[in-house]
Amino acid sequence: MKKIVLLGASGSIGLQTIDVCIHHKESFEIVGLSVGHNIEVLKDILTKVSVSYVCTAQHHKELIEEYPNINFFHGDEGLLQLVSLSYDVLVNALVGFVGLIPTLKAIELKKDIAIANKETLVVAGKFVNEAVKKHKVQLLPIDSEHSAIWQCLKGNDRKEISKLIITASGGSFRDKTREELKNVTVKEALNHPNWNMGAKITIDSATMMNKGFEVIEAHWLFDIPFEDIEVVMHPESIIHSMVQFKDYSVLAQLGLADMRLPIQYALTYPNRLEVYNSEALDLRKIGSLHFKEICFNRFPLLKLAYEVGKKQGTLPAVLNAANEEANALFLKGKIRFLDIEDLVMDACKDVWFKQDPNLEDILKADALAREYVRRKIEGLK
Ligand code: MG
Repeated sequence: MKKIVLLGASGSIGLQTIDVCIHHKESFEIVGLSVGHNIEVLKDILTKVSVSYVCTAQHHKELIEEYPNINFFHGDEGLLQLVSLSYDVLVNALVGFVGLIPTLKAIELKKDIAIANKETLVVAGKFVNEAVKKHKVQLLPIDSEHSAIWQCLKGNDRKEISKLIITASGGSFRDKTREELKNVTVKEALNHPNWNMGAKITIDSATMMNKGFEVIEAHWLFDIPFEDIEVVMHPESIIHSMVQFKDYSVLAQLGLADMRLPIQYALTYPNRLEVYNSEALDLRKIGSLHFKEICFNRFPLLKLAYEVGKKQGTLPAVLNAANEEANALFLKGKIRFLDIEDLVMDACKDVWFKQDPNLEDILKADALAREYVRRKIEGLK
């Protein structure tokens, strides 16, 4: 029986993690979970799982009255209290930079980390890796591409890798030209062709910022130089990523677009369990798989992610923070789709940079980049 603390329970990955745990009650027990502001979803979750600890973004007096058997925490401090409980694996399904500090705290307390929160690795991969090594814990990838690579590497020597090939569906606007992107709407951007995900990541997929983050994430998870990480467009999202070895043998992991598989694998590794109510992949129904080169001019944020990843320092924190702000502004209808790219690229050029940052510098770069984007938007009004 593995005891789990789940951060970000009301999001897409969080709810699917709960689904996995409910259907394998013999294997997993969720002892504590966090949600942000989504109290209705929390109440629904509490009809399905009985947990002893819950953290919400804000204090809710009525929750304490309604659920007398649950211990409630709140805010950033609450997240740290939650990760300090007694359990085996932290599932970090938070979205954004907010996941960093609780992750580092959990590692310090010797918890294994199943990580869906890619922003944490983007901004502070070096710190996370150092902590993982120091405290001898496991970092278990949930992102489907990284789970695929991880599965392909099982039983193989990492020294024999020649490159990682990350597949990209291309997001909701993959067939549009840059000219056609000028006036796209939020609704169109949220309509991903293959995956049903949260709003932030769906927009990040449309700009390919998500794929850029995944390149940086792969660099930290598998210790592979950026030159040896390739992104290939694969519209069907059946091959979730591949590893090419020195002898040019390529291993791929295939499956339908169901995030419960990588979530569950992170929790059962190195073993496997059935995925409840899932469908087997039938390649005869799929018929054919397609691959094509990704044009960096069409997706400048993917190109930028490679540059930022190589340059390191505080730059990944700036890239991420500017993107979080711009993404949120687009979702609120305050900027146009292509403004996201401009804001992120400008922030990476203009915001304070330090080559060998400590953790405080990372937090400072994050705050400065957010302020930069907000000021720039004020200036545009
Ligand atoms: Mg992914």
